[in-house]
Amino acid sequence: MAPTYAGWVQTQADVIVVGAGPGGASAAYYLAKEGFSVIALEKSFFPREKVCGDGLTPRAVRELEIIGLPTPREDGWIPNWGLRMVGGGHRLEFPWHEQDSFPHYGLSLPRHSFDHKLARHARSAGADVREGWFVTGAIRDERSGRITGVTARQTDAEGRKTGDEVTYRAPLVIAADGVSARIALGQGIERKKNRPIGVAVRGYYKTERHAEEWMEGHLEIWDGERGKSKLLPGYGWIFPLGDGTANVGLGTLSPKGTPPKLDHRALMETWIKHSTDDWGFTAEGQVGKIQGAAIPMAFNRQPHYVPGMMLVGDSGGMVNPFNGEGIAYAMQAARHASEAMVQWREATTDKAKEQALEGYARTLKDELGGYYSLGRVFASLIAHPSVMKLCTRYGLPRPTIMRFTHKLLADVYEPRGGDWADRLLSTLTKVAPSA
Ligand SMILES: Cc1cc2nc3c(=O)[nH]c(=O)nc-3n(C[C@H](O)[C@H](O)[C@H](O)COP(=O)(O)OP(=O)(O)OC[C@H]3O[C@@H](n4cnc5c(N)ncnc54)[C@H](O)[C@@H]3O)c2cc1C
Repeated sequence: MAPTYAGWVQTQADVIVVGAGPGGASAAYYLAKEGFSVIALEKSFFPREKVCGDGLTPRAVRELEIIGLPTPREDGWIPNWGLRMVGGGHRLEFPWHEQDSFPHYGLSLPRHSFDHKLARHARSAGADVREGWFVTGAIRDERSGRITGVTARQTDAEGRKTGDEVTYRAPLVIAADGVSARIALGQGIERKKNRPIGVAVRGYYKTERHAEEWMEGHLEIWDGERGKSKLLPGYGWIFPLGDGTANVGLGTLSPKGTPPKLDHRALMETWIKHSTDDWGFTAEGQVGKIQGAAIPMAFNRQPHYVPGMMLVGDSGGMVNPFNGEGIAYAMQAARHASEAMVQWREATTDKAKEQALEGYARTLKDELGGYYSLGRVFASLIAHPSVMKLCTRYGLPRPTIMRFTHKLLADVYEPRGGDWADRLLSTLTKVAPSA
């Protein structure tokens, strides 16, 4: 419940955050920790489901370490020590590397629990996270052209809007409302059509191998029986959750922003039937529904800052086009949003204040722009199943190629120093244009 005084709801803050998924909750945490007053408006009530693979690479674990969220096993966090890749007739395990900048393990936790923990963490830092508030749009001041707040309505447990529209005001709004990007769209910030977009579905299946500490990725998706049917431009995953089930999913990638017209649920059923027999998944062992969503990649919505408003996470299309991972990047962006806000507070002129906020978008481009440009090339290549087939058949068994590829796909290379693969990746991402 929102704090009230004799029926009056607090609607002013230093920052209004829209959405309390990983991006919004992290932003709320960092900003509250820095002493800003923060109201985060979340349309749903925790704990709630979010369609996701529930998998975290070492890059995401690093963000969890930075934000200080404990990840003990007894709370359901299951470690993984690397990625098993299946494709081209191979089944090979690639452990996460020992590195200076990243932990050498990943984690899994259903989003139902993950997002709830992160929202509680934000509250523990002093953020006012309000559940059951649907933000209907941003408010722009006609005179200055700045975003100065949002309008929102309360929702009930079924998601129905109740009550009148309430105006929330703040010098900064953070739009972390996910792939729907309603707030950005309302301000005319459209999706870039030349960026890759994924569509993925996932379900939970019972399996005796639920406690296995490896992520499994399938680089080939067959339209029917393995090796005897058509190869499709997609990838599959199996992430054991340690609770009797695994998160099983499948995604396809479209390099030019138009999702392919495929029946992903039917495709997943076919894939599970023909290519995952060693996991013992059955229709009877399916827990809950198969659900899907779009995955916005490679900064497909920009600018990430307009006067008075920052886009964080999926609303700014921040998912990694190499692997479909988005949680780490939403959290990273939230961290930089808070840093920019601290500089805004310290700046003494209007111009310097605005430059501080604009610095947020620049930092994202500096850190991720080159890598995402490489990812766009990768997405165009693997859109051709024949290329993927050649890569998996001849690349997977070659340790030198795979050392490089593993670091590239998981985005866990050392930005400075490291081995030859780190140095090569670091150079490539620097010379690739950041767009
Ligand atoms: C099938 C699938 C599998 C995936 N697997 C992985 C994976 O294994 N690992 C990984 O790292 N990433 C994965 N991703 C991507 C990942 O889910 C997202 O990148 C991540 O959730 C982005 O976080 P976010 O905070 O930006 O947005 P979200 O997590 O979508 O959070 C947005 C929040 O805003 C709220 N909201 C939306 N609109 C409003 C509104 N108008 N008013 C108030 N609140 C609002 C929503 O309820 C939600 O809580 C997957 C995605 C899909 C679709």
